[in-house]
Amino acid sequence: MPSKLSDYEVICTIGVGSYGKCKKIKRRSDGKILAWKEINYGSMSETEKQMLVSEVNLLRGLRHEFIVRYYDRIVDRNTTTIYIIMEYCEGGDLGSLISRCKRERKYLEEEFAWKVLRQITLALHECQQRVKGSAVLHRDLKPANVFLDAAHEVKLGDFGLARVLHHDTSFAKTFVGTPYYMSPELMDHCSYNEKSDMWSLGCLIYELCSLSPPFTAINQQHLAVKIKEGKFRPLPSPYSAELQELISRMLKIDAVLRPSIEDILKHSRILELSAPKKDRRSSQPDE
Ligand code: ATP
Ligand code: MG
Ligand code: MG
Repeated sequence: MPSKLSDYEVICTIGVGSYGKCKKIKRRSDGKILAWKEINYGSMSETEKQMLVSEVNLLRGLRHEFIVRYYDRIVDRNTTTIYIIMEYCEGGDLGSLISRCKRERKYLEEEFAWKVLRQITLALHECQQRVKGSAVLHRDLKPANVFLDAAHEVKLGDFGLARVLHHDTSFAKTFVGTPYYMSPELMDHCSYNEKSDMWSLGCLIYELCSLSPPFTAINQQHLAVKIKEGKFRPLPSPYSAELQELISRMLKIDAVLRPSIEDILKHSRILELSAPKKDRRSSQPDE
């Protein structure tokens, strides 16, 4: 049975995003802590609204250990708000983790970077497998959209909604804020493909280690130049040549030269992490 607003108690506002507030909530029936996103559809076109609803339905079918679980949606016609109920990610997002490390001048452990790389890749793989036919690409892969649960396991979130809500807007607006992770082919208005996600993922893992993105500039035009040059500083010294090498391949200007999702999953370091738990130390962010 679909739930209703009164089935939940709002605990607090977690934050405000480009589409509305995200709140921490409690399901009254069993006390389970969840989160919801409040999206006002009042100013959306009929097409956008339909896409939003079908996208949410699609997300509900995506169940994977490394993807934020979507539970339900409630439409309140009085306030023209849709509430998207999802798993609450206690560990916050990678953007906040990176800011914290930067502030404390502390690098994350390399093991954690490999773990995040593996888990995001598996989540992307699942999207690709599941959402056959329609666009399967994340399009908004950035630290703020990668969450951690209480056990510091990755939960990829926000992707489908990002796609729907940007559908009718122009290319440039697809990226809210500075598009640090935009691939060179997207800069040139070429089509988005699996390898564009690989570029963004390369940027993300790079930033997780370096604590700043591989390409930065004072404005979008300069950023485009930097991205197309494809030059970036090596990772800081604590990180291995092996990780450096893989990130460099993910950040190849020529998309064909970047590894595929399958290539990442076959990397020896990733395979090691996939081995039974007893064979490895658990890796958690250095706190
Ligand atoms: P954008 O709208 O571009 O995605 P954003 O990511 O900052 O920007 P939201 O996705 O609405 O905006 O998130 C707002 C805040 O809520 C952020 O601090 C985010 O980390 C947090 N948040 C979002 N989803 C969850 C969740 N499932 N569990 C815990 N915190 C979440
Ligand atoms: Mg977000
Ligand atoms: Mg988002």
